Amino acid sequence: MSRQDNKNTLSFVQPEPNGPWATYLSQVDQTMPYLGDLARWAETLRRPKRCLIVEIPVELDDGTIAHFEGYRVQHNLSRGPGKGGVRFHPDVTLQEVMALAAWMTIKNAAVNLPYGGAKGGVRIDPSRFSRREIEKITRRYTSEIGLIIGPDKDIPAPDVNTNSQIMAWMMDTYSMNVGAAATGVVTGKPLQLGGSLGRVKATGRGVFVVGREAAGWSRMPIDGARVAIQGFGNVGSSAAELFVAHGARLVAVQDHTGTLFNAEGLDCAGLAAHAATHGGIAGFAGGEPIPDEQFWDVESDILIPAALESQITAERAQRIKARMVLEGANGPCTKDGDQVLNDRGILVVPDVIANAGGVTVSYFEWVQDFSSFFWTEDEINVRLDKILVGAFKHIWDTAAQHQISLRTAAFVVACTRVLQARAERGLYP
Ligand code: NAD
Repeated sequence: MSRQDNKNTLSFVQPEPNGPWATYLSQVDQTMPYLGDLARWAETLRRPKRCLIVEIPVELDDGTIAHFEGYRVQHNLSRGPGKGGVRFHPDVTLQEVMALAAWMTIKNAAVNLPYGGAKGGVRIDPSRFSRREIEKITRRYTSEIGLIIGPDKDIPAPDVNTNSQIMAWMMDTYSMNVGAAATGVVTGKPLQLGGSLGRVKATGRGVFVVGREAAGWSRMPIDGARVAIQGFGNVGSSAAELFVAHGARLVAVQDHTGTLFNAEGLDCAGLAAHAATHGGIAGFAGGEPIPDEQFWDVESDILIPAALESQITAERAQRIKARMVLEGANGPCTKDGDQVLNDRGILVVPDVIANAGGVTVSYFEWVQDFSSFFWTEDEINVRLDKILVGAFKHIWDTAAQHQISLRTAAFVVACTRVLQARAERGLYP
């Protein structure tokens, strides 16, 4: 082996073709021509700083012992402590968590938050376990990753299938282990435990704000725009609510229970109430159920993927009839899908800016916890708007300057900041 084993290889993971880690690596590759001298440090972006795999044994309600696999990946800590959510999903893998952690590095730097990138996950289908069992799994997972998290080290937050209650258990477990109430160890907490006003809907609000800016700069009115959304959970439903409040029509919604279409516009509030009581959108009377695959053929102006990654494949990208794809989810386009959308002239507003509202208000929560002084919801929403509008404009201008996609522009802005921090710190030892 040469003295520089530098060639994009990690012995513990082979990138799945078109999987999230391969997609992330290709995004870094596209950024390289715009990094100048900093490209010398770029290999650091292709290697997570730390990957922790933990075993989570718990006694279930029926007395049996179950074992779960959990992860916490810190992709890059050059600009500050790690920051990124925790996902509970049966398909979570180390490779997926690595990609999600890497996208957090990019997102935090693209918005200029003083954080590195991290992400966590547990391989579990939470719908199959009781509340008591989920609490045990959460607490054991938190204890295990307690080695590397902390208010000034790495700060988890909610993601798919995790919420403020799970954050409360994480905060309590960490606090018991260190012997003092450590509110700043997680964000997305309940208000009574140092949570922030506006956090629950912040990601969806950010999707709207960034979508509004992208539409404005592309001269597309939001009033009357047709919006199609995949995923009607925290992000999708909050974004939908704001688009509808500003005159858009919600023509199609898909979640894990089915797909609904209504050319006149679905009743957003009614659909949200139905999904909350029935666990999904299926059975809602105000729309026509259509086969899931037809979702990608629906005519719309703005398509918002807000469910899971790798949903927009090359084949689906060929069929999409939207002017803008606004990425609420992390990594919803595969590498090939992204290429097809770009080739077809469909504006792709990338996840690393489109869904950055959540981590931005998480940052506000963390700041408020440190100062023990809490802001009003108006203050939070005004500051969120200001940060996202500024970050988006910077990315928009970078794209125009180099004639590149918004995604590559966001990566150029973010990678430059990360690698500059890296270069200024130097290498230890
Ligand atoms: P959530 O669990 O609240 O909602 C997920 C939604 O996706 C649900 O409506 C679910 O039914 C749907 N879904 C799941 N599998 C599906 C499938 N196969 N087909 C169609 N729909 C499916 O999760 P969330 O917090 O809204 O997160 C959604 C996305 O946004 C994820 O990619 C997440 O990483 C990203 N994100 C979330 C936040 C946040 O603050 N919650 C922040 C940034 C990014």
